[in-house]
Amino acid sequence: MISEPAATSTTFSFKKQGVRPFLIAGPCSAETEEQVMETARGLLHSNIDLFRSGVWKPRTRPGAFEGKGSAALPWLKRVKDELGLRTTIEVATALQVEKALKYGIDVLWIGARSTANPFSVQEIADALKGVDVPVMVKNPTNPDLELWIGAIERVQAVGIKNMAAIHRGFSTYGKSIFRNEPYWEIPIELRRRMPEIPLFCDNSHICGNRIELKSVAQYALDLNYDGLMTETHCDPDHAWSDAQQQITPDEYAKLISDLVFKRETSDDLDFIALVKSIRQQIDTLDAQILQLIAQRMELSEQIGLQKKHHNISILQLQRWNEILEKAKEFGRKQGLSERFIQHYLSAVHQESISRQAKA
Ligand code: PEP
Ligand code: MN
Repeated sequence: MISEPAATSTTFSFKKQGVRPFLIAGPCSAETEEQVMETARGLLHSNIDLFRSGVWKPRTRPGAFEGKGSAALPWLKRVKDELGLRTTIEVATALQVEKALKYGIDVLWIGARSTANPFSVQEIADALKGVDVPVMVKNPTNPDLELWIGAIERVQAVGIKNMAAIHRGFSTYGKSIFRNEPYWEIPIELRRRMPEIPLFCDNSHICGNRIELKSVAQYALDLNYDGLMTETHCDPDHAWSDAQQQITPDEYAKLISDLVFKRETSDDLDFIALVKSIRQQIDTLDAQILQLIAQRMELSEQIGLQKKHHNISILQLQRWNEILEKAKEFGRKQGLSERFIQHYLSAVHQESISRQAKA
């Protein structure tokens, strides 16, 4: 097969085709030429849009497999030349950008650890000046939306027009069912702030295991994400990195065919009328809730004045614990999660304290 020209802003688009999400799949790391070719061949019948592979791997601890580096670039060129798949790799330095472009890598991505470091992002951006290549930016490892936006802006500022964001979850300390907590509210806010940037979900690095891959991917599609990035390996159990989260190309094909692709809108008039009426009810309830909260705040202020008058401290821990416990119990009976009650009441309590302080 003839090699396709490298992707440019005019020949390449991250956009969905109809309801079908943009699909990126391939191994965590390029290990050997055979592994890369076999994985890529296995993915052909899934009609993926981009073949991913790690070449330089940012490992948390020294001693783990750090990628084959430049030696792997000709293997990806073979994937492109012989199988006609466009390719993407992570780049973290100016030199890596230069080498990737030399081997015709179509799309570059900035990894989570680099996004967290504005010096790294700037170095990559500077190396991209005057180059027409699509770039994807993963979220930083820490849950900091501004860093994520800042990295996208740094790349845009050197003239890169074709960009996408990849949500790969955020590091936390302590137990979680996820390897990286999704904190869905962060990518949702990114989408509100940068609606023109396609948003992809890296379900592999969010999950860190194979079991949850499908439910996380479906959740992302339900939120109208534009695409998915999923680690796929011809022999996942023996992968040199991230073995526990990779799946075979056949398992990948099944995963994709099991997903329900969603549309953003519909022209079904009954559906539109029903949703409109439900939304009106929601708007009415939201207005009532805000009125009630405002009344509650006025009562807090009255208490604040009394506390001031009697020289009593504003924060009353015992009372706060009582409110919280009572609300959790009540919320449970109403089918509201403890996590939600905790978030909601913390916000109310915070506002109440600052109103009392001003009283
Ligand atoms: C990867 O995609 O293999 C990778 C290293 O990802 P992240 O930057 O999200 O950790
Ligand atoms: Mn990986």
